[in-house]
Order: sequence, then C-alpha cells, then structure tokens
Amino acid sequence: MRSSPWGPEASKVFPCLPVAYLGLANPTCTMPPVRRTNFGENQTLQPAAAYTPANEAEVLSLLERHRGQQVRAVGSLHSWSEAILVDGVLLDLRRLHTVELDSEDDQLVATVGAGCQISLLLKELDRQGATLPSLGLITVQTIAGAISTGTHGSGRHSLSHYVVGVRLARYDAASGKAVIQDVNEGADLEAARCSLGALGIILSVRIRCREQYLVQEHFREYSQLSDVMRAEDSFPLQQFFLIPWRWSYLVQHRKETEQARSWHASLYRAYWLIVMDYGLHLLILSFVRWTEIRSLVRLTFRYVLAAFAVRNWRVVDRSSSMLVMRHEAFRHIEIELFVRRNHLHEALRFSKDVLLVAGGKEAELSKENQAWVLAQGMQESLAGLYDQHCHHYPICVRRVIPDDTLISMASGAGEDWYALSFISYARPQQRAGFLLFAEFMAASMSRMFDARPHWGKLCPLGPKELNSLYPRFDEFRATCTEFDPDGVFKNSWTAALLDSEGITGESEPV
Ligand SMILES: Cc1cc2nc3c(=O)[nH]c(=O)nc-3n(C[C@H](O)[C@H](O)[C@H](O)COP(=O)(O)OP(=O)(O)OC[C@H]3O[C@@H](n4cnc5c(N)ncnc54)[C@H](O)[C@@H]3O)c2cc1C
Repeated sequence: MRSSPWGPEASKVFPCLPVAYLGLANPTCTMPPVRRTNFGENQTLQPAAAYTPANEAEVLSLLERHRGQQVRAVGSLHSWSEAILVDGVLLDLRRLHTVELDSEDDQLVATVGAGCQISLLLKELDRQGATLPSLGLITVQTIAGAISTGTHGSGRHSLSHYVVGVRLARYDAASGKAVIQDVNEGADLEAARCSLGALGIILSVRIRCREQYLVQEHFREYSQLSDVMRAEDSFPLQQFFLIPWRWSYLVQHRKETEQARSWHASLYRAYWLIVMDYGLHLLILSFVRWTEIRSLVRLTFRYVLAAFAVRNWRVVDRSSSMLVMRHEAFRHIEIELFVRRNHLHEALRFSKDVLLVAGGKEAELSKENQAWVLAQGMQESLAGLYDQHCHHYPICVRRVIPDDTLISMASGAGEDWYALSFISYARPQQRAGFLLFAEFMAASMSRMFDARPHWGKLCPLGPKELNSLYPRFDEFRATCTEFDPDGVFKNSWTAALLDSEGITGESEPV
C-alpha cells in the first residue's frame, strides 16, 4: 500500500493560506519573526527568524545558514509547557506532510512528514482502511509535536511507543555540517520517540498503524473507584471522570468490537458535538468567565452536570470518531499528572482533599494527608492555596500502558500508568488560583507518588525534580549530547533540564 496524498508543493494543497504565512512570497520561505502565542495563551514565542521549509533540502540549507544559533521546530503550538519556546530560529514544518502507508513484516507502518496534523494523517489512513493504534482527545497536533511530548489516549501505550523510526536533521559533530540521520533502533530510537525537540529537527516519523476498528461506548456512573477499576477488564479502552463537588465517577466504558457501526452513530456524534463539546463547555464558561459565582459551580457539578451524559446508550462507531472530541473548541489550560496503578486510589483521595481546601470548603486535608504535608514542610503552600481555586471541570483519568521510551511519562516497564488531568477555563489573566493549585499538586504528588507531569502540559517542577522521576534520564541526556554536542537544539528550559543532575537527597523548595 503506498500513497502520497499531497503533491510536493503545499501551495497547491492549501491555496487559501496567506502567502506571507507560508513564506511563498520569498524563495527562502522566511516568515515574519512575529510573536506567537500557544493555544493556552500562557507561552509567548519571540523568534529571531522563522521559516516554513518546503522539503528536507530546505531544512538542511536553513541549518547551514544558521549554524551556531539556537534552532527549534514547533508543531501546532498546542503544548502549554516551556518545551515550545524558541528565541532563536523557528522552523514550522507544516509543509512536510506526506503520508505513505506500507506493510513491513506483516505490520502496517506509516511514514509521515513531521508537520502533518494528526487529523490529516487519520483521514489518509482511513482512506486505506487503517488508523493509528492510539489517539489523544484532539487531532490538531502535528505528528512530530505529538510524539515529542508523549501524547496519549486511554487503554493503550502513548503514540511515542509505536514509533519505529525518526528521520532527523542535525549537525555532524566532526564536520559541523548539517546532515540527515535515520534513527531506527536501540536507545537512540527510545530517546527519539519522545525527545522534547532536543535531538534535532524531526523531518518524518515512521509509526506502526493498524487496521481501522470499531469501538463500543456507553456511560455509567459509580460511587466507588473499585467498581470502576473492576470494569476495566471488560472495557480496556475506558476513561473516567471524577466529578468535583459530586465526587462520583462518570465512566466512558469503551471496548473494541466486531459489531457493525450503529445506525444511530451519527446521532450520537451530533449529541457529542452539541451537548458535550459545546453545550457543556458553554455552561462551564458561563460560570467561570461570565458570572464567577462559585456556589453555582458547585451546585451545577453536584446536581446538573452528570445529566449531560446519557447513561447506557450503547453506540458502536469507528475508533477515529469515537476516541476524539473537540476539546480545542475553547481556550483552557491543563496540568496532567501520571501515577502508577498502585497509587491511583490514594492520588484521587489526595486530589479531592486538596480541591476541597483550594475551593474554600475545608481548611485542612484529611488527617493522613495533612500529617504528610506537615512532615514535608508544605503547610504554608497549602495554607496559601485556601479558597484560591474553585475547580470547575471533571478530572479525567486515563490508563496508559508502559512505553518503550526513555522519558515519555509512561516510560518504564511494570504497572500501568494513570494520567489525572486538571483543567481550568478561567481567562488567561485570571488563572492565578489555578496555577497555585497546579504548582502544589505537582510538587506534592511528585514527592508522594512519584507523579510525572505531562511534558506538553503545565510542568511546574524544577529540572532536578523532573529528571529524578525518570530512571533512564541519564541515557536521554547522553543521547542528546551525542546528537547535539553544541546544544543548539535546546531552549533554556530543556537546557536547564538536561544540564541538571537528579535529586539524591534533599528536595527542591516548593
Ligand atoms: C485542547 C488540547 C487537548 C489535548 N489533548 C491531549 C490528549 O488527549 N493527550 C495528550 O497526551 N496530550 C494532549 N494535549 C497535549 C498535546 O498533545 C501535546 O502538547 C503535543 O505536544 C502538541 O503537539 P503540537 O503539534 O501542537 O506540538 P507543539 O506544542 O508545537 O510542540 C511540542 C514539542 O514538540 C517539538 N516539536 C514539534 N515539531 C518538531 C519537529 N519537527 N522536530 C523536533 N521537535 C519538534 C517542539 O519543539 C516542542 O518541544 C492536548 C493539548 C490541547 C491544547
């Protein structure tokens, strides 16, 4: 199977994009080095120069032209972390977006241009009866951006795990010339599968695919976590939501199925779009941004919100429709913390305790958790959080099977990981309370449960604390040094991360 849906010239594919933006007015593909902000409007990029190269040769010639300067690539700027920052030369690889699907040793493998958005990739794979083995909630990310931060869904490995080859542009250490290297095996591949842009410029990604499949889904509500976890055997793709202020679990039970697509699947899609993607979110926005009445938030979450999820409506649809939503429809900010399965119960109890304090409903955590906070000397941070943030979004919990990577959040053999996500829809200038909460959660949960923050979301830990969470971080650092001895592919955030040693005894101050 082989196809290349896009011609060599992106201008033919995207005739409506502004010429200046694609850089077509200028043979060197220069974009004006204007300020850019990310989706969450919490990061600003101020590159000295910006380009949208059309092919690999142009990437190499840009690297030659800017030898010795900082060079970083970005994708769709849907990360919230400092991993996306660039103040030197910015490369936007949106014009490298071909897709080729092949069969290798009975395994479907797609070779995908680095700047190809997941939505385009899925469309092309679907046309050939295939799909990705794992999907996040949205599809606007680029493939290179998605794997670089360990993007994941529920019930599978993260996307990074399925990568079998990464084609990188970097500088040769001996000659100093810009070269292309294919990374196909060993620790180098494990590093390249999730590399925060620190190994070089990703030109294309080879990723395992599978035949398109169908997923059956239905909602149910539970009061006990143990019941939710028991259902995992029957519904391995499930994800669930802890509903704040109601403190029950709303579960999206999901499993692969051989059944045919439901006749009412299109109706279900319309329900998701109108009721969940827009209706529910507009209701949340109305409390958080327009009225700001906390008691209304709590009452709605306690009595109204769960009614949005129609229980026991069993629907079968294509995986690439069922597993995603329009979560990018409204601007928001998120922190996501990964804990191992044996910590999940305690981590959710701790989260609830902290949310009660942050929401001004309790002055202290429950006895055990409060004693732990005291022992860690974190009582002042906790006191500072009191009544600062009324949580207003379901806490999504997704299971991620351990990855064969060096530093994706689910890296390392052993138990499954569970990602707990905390989201705020407050306006960018009104996020102070949520940011305090996110800092406290990252600092406490990393110490208590070795919780790892998602690399692409808010990541409010110091470099030492971050790299201590990854047993193979030294190998990652060594690979980065080998691939980028002069450190030109680092920004100041990845530099601090890569230059620091892990914590051996004392923790960094919160
Ligand atoms: C609404 C929303 C929903 C989300 N849902 C999920 C979810 O369900 N699951 C999940 O895990 N994450 C999710 N995310 C996070 C998102 O998937 C990651 O942050 C992802 O990295 C964003 O991809 P991007 O293309 O926007 O890359 P960017 O954010 O632009 O870049 C991310 C990193 O990739 C590097 N990079 C990009 N392109 C290249 C290249 N060509 N060469 C080298 N390095 C490169 C950048 O330097 C940067 O370090 C969500 C984000 C948003 C805003």
